[in-house]
Amino acid sequence: MKLRVGVDLGGTTAKLGVVNERYEIVERKVIPTDRSSTFEDTIARLAEGILSLGDVGTVGFGVPSSLMPGTGMVIYANNLGWKNKDIKGELAKHLGDIPTFVANDADSATVGEYFQGAGRGYQSVLMLTLGTGVGGGYIYNGRLFEGGNGCGFEPGHMTIRVDGVPCTCGKKGCLESYASATAIIRELNECDSPSLKAFIAENGGKPTARMLFDAVREGNTAAQEILDNYVKALAVGIGNLVTILRPHIVLIGGGVSGAGDMLFRPLRACLHDTVFSYEVIGCPDVVPASLGNDAGIIGAAMLDQVKV
Ligand SMILES: [Zn+2]
Repeated sequence: MKLRVGVDLGGTTAKLGVVNERYEIVERKVIPTDRSSTFEDTIARLAEGILSLGDVGTVGFGVPSSLMPGTGMVIYANNLGWKNKDIKGELAKHLGDIPTFVANDADSATVGEYFQGAGRGYQSVLMLTLGTGVGGGYIYNGRLFEGGNGCGFEPGHMTIRVDGVPCTCGKKGCLESYASATAIIRELNECDSPSLKAFIAENGGKPTARMLFDAVREGNTAAQEILDNYVKALAVGIGNLVTILRPHIVLIGGGVSGAGDMLFRPLRACLHDTVFSYEVIGCPDVVPASLGNDAGIIGAAMLDQVKV
């Protein structure tokens, strides 16, 4: 049987995996990627790695970049230093007529969760990843939403506050500026509560997102206030997305989702106020994503099944 290969491309490594008919990764390979190699060299090394896996039937790539829908053109992959690169065309030089599929990495992770993770069995799946930034993907009736004219689905850069906190993208008030791990760290750094400052100092002095949840667990009221504001902002973002997209389920991945009930319980409660017609049809369940880093590989391998 021909192999289904998924590639999760990152700034320092590409993770390759062979995915079987039960959507499990049965073989893995890691190939270093870095900005010092040219685009052509990196693709050549990746192609070599892919072909070494055996008789390859299809290959999917999750790329940390915006893409032009339908073309496989990378618009800009900051971590890799790639701008306006034709991944599909370059791969074809090495892989011949093996079909290749390219998607944004957060989209690929959503596809993985749709087939094998917490989104399994649902037709329309919305996923948000809460990490350094806020990413996400949306599958509508079994098809990956990629947008019409490029740049795809970027929930992290939805404005949730007019004239709000500046975002890395150049705009102000983006969801990412309030709901990322980076936002939590900023709030911890800026907080002038003596008890919270002392808590941070006792725990090494360098704030992390996890530290916020630890401080709340210890009953720190300043930390609780930061968490409350964090949850409210996230609920505005999710509420807007649910009101417009009406998914069957909402998955939350990324480092912050590891906080579990401390995050999910208040978040679900806040959605009463932010989802239109909550009192009539309720809100889809909001649950943690379940595959972790494997979602990207599995999803990339399954891209041929969800592309329009
Ligand atoms: Zn932004």
